[in-house]
Amino acid sequence: MTFHSGGCQCGAVRFRASKFGRASICHCRMCQKAYGSYVGALVTAHDLEWTRGAPAWFASSNRAKRGFCAQCGTPLSFKPDDSDFEVSCASFDDPRVVAPVLQVNPESKQPFFDTLSELPTRQAGAEPKQEAFLASVVNYQHPDHDTTNWPLNMDARK
Ligand SMILES: [Zn+2]
Ligand SMILES: [Zn+2]
Repeated sequence: MTFHSGGCQCGAVRFRASKFGRASICHCRMCQKAYGSYVGALVTAHDLEWTRGAPAWFASSNRAKRGFCAQCGTPLSFKPDDSDFEVSCASFDDPRVVAPVLQVNPESKQPFFDTLSELPTRQAGAEPKQEAFLASVVNYQHPDHDTTNWPLNMDARK
């Protein structure tokens, strides 16, 4: 049995699972709001374990709740009242293990979604100020693997 791990941006909540359904991207308006993005990407994790901390929950309807990290806000889970936990695909340490294979709720798809990958890409050297900013960044995000001692540098994150 191979477990795949993941967690939120700050590392306060971590999970693992080994048995998955089909990963999908959902275009519904609730996922758009919950993720602050054009789709939510979710996969059912039949044997999900929260290995560090636990999500906070928002009941987004009478039939389901949505889990997120109360410290950093990362969307982590969708839990229908009659089935197993779903986990946000991009919160896995290696999102490739749960690559999406299906789109759902296309009636709410944003009209520009299908052409997003055709947008022009900013080339290196085009915006020196932005590159200088990125070069100065110290990353406080939890690394893409389990850790025994975390969080680090909490004072610096305030
Ligand atoms: Zn967090
Ligand atoms: Zn949705």
